[in-house]
Amino acid sequence: MFNLVLFGPPGSGKGTHAIRIKEKYNLFHFSTGEYLRAEINNKTELGLRAKEFINKGNLVPDDLVFEIIESLIEKHKGVNGFILDGFPRTIIQAEQLDKAQTKINESVSMVLSLVVDEDELMKRLIKRGEETGRHDDNEAIIKRRFDVYNRQTSPLIEYYKNQDKYYEIYGLGSVDSIFGRITNIIDAYFANIK
Ligand code: ADP
Repeated sequence: MFNLVLFGPPGSGKGTHAIRIKEKYNLFHFSTGEYLRAEINNKTELGLRAKEFINKGNLVPDDLVFEIIESLIEKHKGVNGFILDGFPRTIIQAEQLDKAQTKINESVSMVLSLVVDEDELMKRLIKRGEETGRHDDNEAIIKRRFDVYNRQTSPLIEYYKNQDKYYEIYGLGSVDSIFGRITNIIDAYFANIK
C-alpha cells in the first residue's frame, strides 16, 4: 500500500493537489477537515462536538479524530493506498497512526509538504472565505490556525525527517507546475522501490 501524508499549513493547496494525486495514482483521498465539515452540516453528535473547536480555529481533540481515521482504515482495507489530507496534525496523532499501521503491517510511505509563506496563505484563505462562506476563513480565525499550525503541527516535520520520509515542495506557481513537482517525487519513490 502507498500511504501518502499530504502536509502543509492551512491554504497551502493540499485539497487541490489531493484530487489530482488521487486520479493519477488511484488512491483513496481522505480529508479530515472535509469529513468534519460534513458532520457539522449533517448536525451529527460528532459534528456538534467538532464545531466548537473548528470555528475557533483550534484542533479537534486527538482521540475524536483518531476514531475517524481508525474506522476509515478498517473500512477501506482493499485500496491501493491512502492520501491523508489534514491528518496527522499533532505528534500524538502521528504516533497513533504509526501504531495502527504497524498492527496491520503497513506504514506511512512518504510525507509531502507544501511550503507557502504566511502572507500568501492569508490572501488565499481570505479569498476562499469570500467564495465559499467557510466560517473559519476569516482573518482572526486564520491567524489562530497559523498559530496552532506553528505550535502543534509543524513539530511533525522533525518527526518525519527522523523517519526519512519528509519531502518539501515549493507551493507557489501554477497548479500544473506544482503538481509536476509532486509527481516527480512520487514517481522517484516508486522507481526506487521496484
Ligand atoms: P485547513 O488545512 O485549511 O486548515 P482543513 O479542512 O484541513 O483546513 O481543517 C479545518 C479544521 O478542521 C481545522 O482547523 C481543525 O479544527 C479541524 N481538523 C482537521 N483535521 C484535523 C486533525 N487531524 N486534528 C484535529 N483537528 C482537525
